[in-house]
Amino acid sequence: MAEKLMKFSEAVKKYDPVIGLETHVELCTNTKLFCPAHVEFGGEPNTQLTPVSLGLPGSLPVVNATAVDFAIKLGLALHCKINEWSQFARKNYFYPDMPRDYQISQYDKPTNGEGYLDVELDDGSIFRVPIERAHIEDDAGKNTHVGGADGRIEGADHSLCDYNRAGVPLIEIVTKPITGVGARASEIAGAYMRTLRDIVKALGISHARMEQGNMRADVNVSLRPTPDDPLGTRSETKNVNSFRGIEKTVTYEIRRQAAILDDGGEILQETRHWDEATQSTAGGRLKTDADDYRYFPDPDLVMLHITPEHIERIKAQMPEMPRERRNRLQSEWGLTDDAMRDIVNAGALDLIEDTVKAGASAQGARKWWLGEISRAANEQEKSLDDMPITPADVAQVEKLIADGKLNDKLAKKTVLGVLAGEGTPAEVVKKHGYEVVQDTGALEAEVDKALAANPDIVEKLKSGNMKPMGAIIGAVMKATRGQADAKAVSGLVMKKIKG
Ligand code: ADP
Ligand code: MG
Repeated sequence: MAEKLMKFSEAVKKYDPVIGLETHVELCTNTKLFCPAHVEFGGEPNTQLTPVSLGLPGSLPVVNATAVDFAIKLGLALHCKINEWSQFARKNYFYPDMPRDYQISQYDKPTNGEGYLDVELDDGSIFRVPIERAHIEDDAGKNTHVGGADGRIEGADHSLCDYNRAGVPLIEIVTKPITGVGARASEIAGAYMRTLRDIVKALGISHARMEQGNMRADVNVSLRPTPDDPLGTRSETKNVNSFRGIEKTVTYEIRRQAAILDDGGEILQETRHWDEATQSTAGGRLKTDADDYRYFPDPDLVMLHITPEHIERIKAQMPEMPRERRNRLQSEWGLTDDAMRDIVNAGALDLIEDTVKAGASAQGARKWWLGEISRAANEQEKSLDDMPITPADVAQVEKLIADGKLNDKLAKKTVLGVLAGEGTPAEVVKKHGYEVVQDTGALEAEVDKALAANPDIVEKLKSGNMKPMGAIIGAVMKATRGQADAKAVSGLVMKKIKG
């Protein structure tokens, strides 16, 4: 049965939406959080295990120092208070994806306390998202349900357990309730996730690939009549793993809850899941704040002591953050906000930076990556990174143009040749003989021919009417199969007319 939905614009006029995001980021350490089991995506099931990741009796966890340092890095990037003392706690639950029957997480003493993340919205304005905490915990394994419809446990006849992921380090970043979002609720949720992903990538602490589940978010949404009212009851949509999915979840939940409230109904505090096939959220289990995980400090692990000196050492290793880097490059390249946003949205920032490093101008690099190469990538449904052309190739094409060896048309053909796998720009040029005619004698002969064939144009040019110059250049281009330098041709024409 299709749920009743209110129009989004109406819903945000009648109600004040509040959102909250709990994001899991899988760290890219070589080994697990509490044991030296090797971590690698896509390994054969149950090959990345130790007695600790299986929770065998007598096995004892030892914390992975790299994972803690990664957490501190993220804490610093999110302006969190880094707690001098933090503690691991057992979160007890039974489910066959976790052989120990408890997850090791942090409860009342997380490594990272309050902070914030500034996110840039489409109109260039900055929205500050308040962070509640960012704690360290280990991941569960993966269950595969066989025999039912769409891999759900309902109707399955058996389930398979893969514990390779059990014990992989995660950081969970929990926002405070984000208020004041209004009609921009979905945009802010999406922008927050993208900004977080960029930071995590820049820090090098996670592969940050949404599609592989390296980052996933629980999306909390509630409505209240006005910003002065207390927070309304929230729904929590679990494990959304795409940016669009997060935006659509927020939009859908606002529309769904508004329709219920408008009918005088009540919002249930429940977990839901986002269904990509139906583009809607579906109800899961009812949840109350009394969910009892019987948290208690893990007696197998000592408290973490993070000294101010240690934090200083990590601070010294912090790379430039994505927004600072974008601002720096934008001013170095002399681009407008819009031009810069196009580059970022096209995923071309790194490529253009590398092309500029290889000697090209920013304008030239931008023109190729957002033009010809983007067009080809779109046609082939590939990302720019996967195209068979490198920043060095693009810089080489730009150099050939600067040296007068290629004109715009030939340069385009050369780039298309590289994209078609014909080799480096130099090889493509050589193979097809694309170089512009350097021999001024040969060029002059073609110019003479073109002028002789068009006496009317010559008259106009002589009288100072330069409009038909294009026709002469066109004729010479045609005669040289596009291999003339347009500037050289017009220079020769001027010389002849005056002479
Ligand atoms: P739990 O761990 O049970 O999901 P939390 O109290 O940690 O509960 O809250 C989860 C997330 O939901 C946090 O990001 C929090 O800011 C957000 N949140 C809490 N109350 C609301 C609300 N009424 N509306 C929207 N988001 C909320
Ligand atoms: Mg939650």
